[in-house]
Amino acid sequence: MTEEPTKPADLKALAEQHLAENKRRRDALRTAIPLDTFVEDAIGLVLSEPGRGDMQGVCPFHGDDRPSLYVVPSKAFYHCFACGAHGDVVTFDAEYRRIPEWMSMMQLEKRVAAGENPIRVQPRPTDEEMKALRDELGIFKGDE
Ligand SMILES: [Zn+2]
Repeated sequence: MTEEPTKPADLKALAEQHLAENKRRRDALRTAIPLDTFVEDAIGLVLSEPGRGDMQGVCPFHGDDRPSLYVVPSKAFYHCFACGAHGDVVTFDAEYRRIPEWMSMMQLEKRVAAGENPIRVQPRPTDEEMKALRDELGIFKGDE
């Protein structure tokens, strides 16, 4: 049997497979890590209104002077009504710590697998920590 060159249809299937796998991993992280616990130290969450189930805090993604960022733990997402920041535990982690989302996912998965509880967002990594992380994940400078 001769090796066929990769056809566009194969590439499409591969891309779909990759997206489905990504979604599965992301859903697992959203389920494993309660968003309110994850962000509360960073943004100082308070209940928005009794009984509504959502919370609000000071948005770390713009110069917030009052709590504009809403966190809906039951739906595992946040939204800022001032700057439009929106996302889930992975988006928050990646943007807050200024690391790529794939790196955030790998780290969060490791913390979940290690049984860390509760899992809270960590401060932005220093240059040395970033280097150690890259070494650990086997990433060489210039890969991005
Ligand atoms: Zn904002």
